[in-house]
Amino acid sequence: MTASAPITQDVVTIARKLPETDRINLVGLTRPQLRAALIENGTPENKVRMRVDQIWQWIYQKGVRDFDAMTNLAKGYRAELAGRFAIGVPAIVSKQVSADGTRKYLVRIAGGHEVETVYIPEADRGTLCISSQVGCTLTCSFCHTGTQKLVRNLTAAEIVGQVMLARDDLGEWPEPGRAPRDETRLISNVVLMGMGEPLYNFEAVRDAMQIVMDGEGISLSRRRITLSTSGVVPEIARTAEEIGCLLAISFHATTDEVRDRLVPINRKWNIEALLSALRDYPRLSTSERITFEYVMLKGVNDSDADARRLVRLIAGIPAKINLIPFNEWPGAPYERSDWERIEAFADIIYKAGYASPIRTPRGEDIMAACGQLKSATERARRSRARIAAESGPAG
Ligand code: SAH
Ligand code: SF4
Repeated sequence: MTASAPITQDVVTIARKLPETDRINLVGLTRPQLRAALIENGTPENKVRMRVDQIWQWIYQKGVRDFDAMTNLAKGYRAELAGRFAIGVPAIVSKQVSADGTRKYLVRIAGGHEVETVYIPEADRGTLCISSQVGCTLTCSFCHTGTQKLVRNLTAAEIVGQVMLARDDLGEWPEPGRAPRDETRLISNVVLMGMGEPLYNFEAVRDAMQIVMDGEGISLSRRRITLSTSGVVPEIARTAEEIGCLLAISFHATTDEVRDRLVPINRKWNIEALLSALRDYPRLSTSERITFEYVMLKGVNDSDADARRLVRLIAGIPAKINLIPFNEWPGAPYERSDWERIEAFADIIYKAGYASPIRTPRGEDIMAACGQLKSATERARRSRARIAAESGPAG
């Protein structure tokens, strides 16, 4: 399926049969939801709290997918659970490994849809980039996902499931009772920067991240989770209150005229509206700065004047500016800014007192870099359409 990639492994795993069964998937249920499900299944009220903790630990701390392995539960109870519930994560359809170690997983979810999940190993951390939607309703003109229509929102199970399947693949389930410290983990950070706009799927993203952050769940600190949004202003304050993770904003332009073109949601909530929501962001502090993502597009948004305007616009907001060299994709209407231009831009920002790291593109050889993700089924559909068009009318 991905034969053209440099290093490809087909890893057809665990095609969970959830959709065909009527068993309820426990993955992705919040604690109160799990509690309710267990009570409905006859678990006595005075035991349910302990059962929730036990099951939760087996699933999220030990990576167990089979009720029979839950050895601190009575045999009969395990059988009852297995009759009514399932522990299902989406299937990895294929995995590609870049020359730089980046891994891109093609993940199949119910309904035959596919999303991509990317693991990026670095010296001091390992970041998992997860998707929140199949496709995207927004149509940012530089983004490959934006050329694909929204197919559907992912469920909380499918969102937290991406973390679980990556842990399966990396062999990262800790020994019982010995959760490793965050910084020694293979997956030490999670970023919601894959396919989709996370704030247009708020509840599922929130529930999934609560499981990722829960001390009895995946147990990652909220400061190791970053949610990236194109600027869904009405949901920004809720992100701080109900999730509490770090925030990244896809800013990308310094005038409304240019931002309208690059990030069309700007026509609804413009730069001023966005900045005012950020100034009011409940968790704003120097230790929890907002990341402004800024894609460097040659001749479009990369002038010295843009850099100076950017600094003026965000004055007063504890911020760091992440410059992203544009990642090209077939048919993209933009080019990456020259390296000297990116450095000159970074220099102006740095001299104004902001950290201005330039993001190293990762996994470019397997199209895993930010903004390049798009489901393979969609790519295949398009190339079939193109071949049909090029070969002319049949007969
Ligand atoms: N929908 C969310 C999160 C997904 S995109 C958002 O837009 O923020 C993650 C980041 O990659 C965003 O900052 C996005 O603007 C950026 N991006 C998209 N396409 C890109 C491309 N081709 N090259 C570089 N960055 C890109
Ligand atoms: Fe959607 Fe983000 Fe791509 Fe814009 S940049 S189209 S919001 S995924």
